[in-house]
Amino acid sequence: MRKPTGIESLYIDFDAFFANAEKLLVPALRDRPVGVVPLPSEHTSLIACCYQSRLSGVKRGMSVAEARSACPDIALVLARHDEYVRLHHRILEEINRHLPVRRVWSIDEMECDLLGSEQQRGLQIARQVRDGLAENIGPLLTPSIGLGPNQFLAKVAAEMEKPAGLTLLHPETLPEQILHLPLTDLPGISSRMLARLHVAGITSMAGLWATSPKQARHIWRSVEGERLWLQLHGYAVSRPETVRRMFGHGRVLARGWQTPSKARECLRLLTAKAAQRLRREGYTASAADISLKTSDGTYWSGTQSFAPSRDDRTFLQAASILFDLGAEKLKGARFQNIYVMLHGLRRPGETSGDLFEHGASHTDRQRWERITDTMDSLNTRYGGGIISLGIRTELPGGYAGAKIAFGRVPDLKDFDAPARPHTKRVPHPES
Ligand SMILES: [Mg+2]
Repeated sequence: MRKPTGIESLYIDFDAFFANAEKLLVPALRDRPVGVVPLPSEHTSLIACCYQSRLSGVKRGMSVAEARSACPDIALVLARHDEYVRLHHRILEEINRHLPVRRVWSIDEMECDLLGSEQQRGLQIARQVRDGLAENIGPLLTPSIGLGPNQFLAKVAAEMEKPAGLTLLHPETLPEQILHLPLTDLPGISSRMLARLHVAGITSMAGLWATSPKQARHIWRSVEGERLWLQLHGYAVSRPETVRRMFGHGRVLARGWQTPSKARECLRLLTAKAAQRLRREGYTASAADISLKTSDGTYWSGTQSFAPSRDDRTFLQAASILFDLGAEKLKGARFQNIYVMLHGLRRPGETSGDLFEHGASHTDRQRWERITDTMDSLNTRYGGGIISLGIRTELPGGYAGAKIAFGRVPDLKDFDAPARPHTKRVPHPES
């Protein structure tokens, strides 16, 4: 295995991305403590908060009430994922002017390779990227940049001096440079893994460094442990490309959306969005799962299989059948969480659907596929949502299915409407 002797990776991680994006987009928020919430509700939690608010003790994941009591002055803003995705694309464009982005890890994290002579100029290039972003996107949206012999260590470096950090981890100064870090600062060490490490007698970075790849594998009970050990020690570890296994969308239902009929509408919308993404990426699915959770914590889930399909009607029918089954079981309950997943993915060429279905149902399916394709192209041309099967409603918080999650930055196509012109403030109960 290859062990780089210099710096080969540059990792960029934006600081408090959603909150700083709001400051950039809304000048009135610039000097205020800002938190971003996913729903216009007093019963939700912050998905981002700026560094100014953190000075008052505000943290990501805090409830609205906790954030207000820590920082009475906080401006709570409803997330505008479409705007953040637009910014993301502008950011990529700017970074690409200096160095090609090799991989986008999330909406606010991306990685570049340093090749040849760039490896000697890593810090200089990083400063150029930082200055370019400040000049062409805006100084409020600060990145923290890390440089290292591999992606793993560059990411660790980017986290080391937030916000607006610029940190280089060089193979020659390892492990000294990282010995002070808690183990959970390493990507891949969760609190559960930390407990396992403790059981194995490893309680510090020095301890992890001194262990062997074999022991790491043993502690992790998988090859991931060995992989982490090798990356920590500065080896270039290539990872097989992950294969797509499912398309899923979930939703926490706002008040007023927890009745069976509203939850059902929501499920249709989420299903149609998941199906749209599946088609755009060129797959068929042969099963749908839905999970329902009620406000008293009861949980139901079910699966429905079908011949490999890509049309809305098949997926919506399956979702409806499953929802009715679930709603029957959870009689009278208020729905709190709803989740749909399309799986059993195949490329159309790999489909053996014809073995299982003949004649009329096959023709019927082809007809629905054509209808779906026509609807997709109309929605692409005229804006998402102008045509759909059945009733289509807007959800509170908007942007069904285009929530930004780990590892997937939505396409602008995932959003229905043009950008909302104004930031909506969440009303304070007393105002
Ligand atoms: Mg970030």
